[in-house]
Amino acid sequence: MNIKHHLDEATLVSYAAGSMSQAMALVTACHLSMCPQCRERLAHSEAMGGVLLDALPPAEVAEDSLQKLLACIDEESDIEAVLLDRPDINKPHKDHSDKGIPTALGDYIGGSLANVEWKRIVPGVYFHDLPCKSERGGVSRLLRIAPGKAMLPHSHDGNELTLILQGSFSDEIGRFTVGDIADLDSEVEHQPLVDSDVDCICLIATDAPLKFSTLLGKIVQPMTGF
Ligand SMILES: [Zn+2]
Repeated sequence: MNIKHHLDEATLVSYAAGSMSQAMALVTACHLSMCPQCRERLAHSEAMGGVLLDALPPAEVAEDSLQKLLACIDEESDIEAVLLDRPDINKPHKDHSDKGIPTALGDYIGGSLANVEWKRIVPGVYFHDLPCKSERGGVSRLLRIAPGKAMLPHSHDGNELTLILQGSFSDEIGRFTVGDIADLDSEVEHQPLVDSDVDCICLIATDAPLKFSTLLGKIVQPMTGF
């Protein structure tokens, strides 16, 4: 796999700090499982975070702080669930074929893209929503687009992460093939066009609704939940 498009530094730091939504964390973890380079950068971010914490001056705390913390942990049974929610990026990613999709994604779709039930948006464009929590009306979904088809031009109110699982597309930024991730913020407007001879399948997370710049996009948006 020849990965050319990687995660932004800010995305890696946010993932390391555990401060991103479940939807964004899933896409990030899937790219990390495919990309040794970003795994190494993540390790550096986590090490830097540890150094910064060590460098902070000690703060005074009340004598009963430890008891209060332990009592909170006893009461909050959700804590374990949240910790377990972070996908395991260390399980090896075997290949990029249907059999070798990232483990973190496979857990949501029964282990194979062949199991996915697609909903049609327009001819040649299909989606499948994943049950991941996102923020401010964002989405977590698989998108399947036929060769020669394009997404409607759009920009973002927040961030958008798009990981290529099959096929390829090109947009104003460049060409994206299997394993590449488009890590876009609200500054970017783009229109991905599928340029592979097979359907392009992407895993997408947004943390706010997209902003479509054409009338057709604005008409279709309420029907698709983008
Ligand atoms: Zn990478």
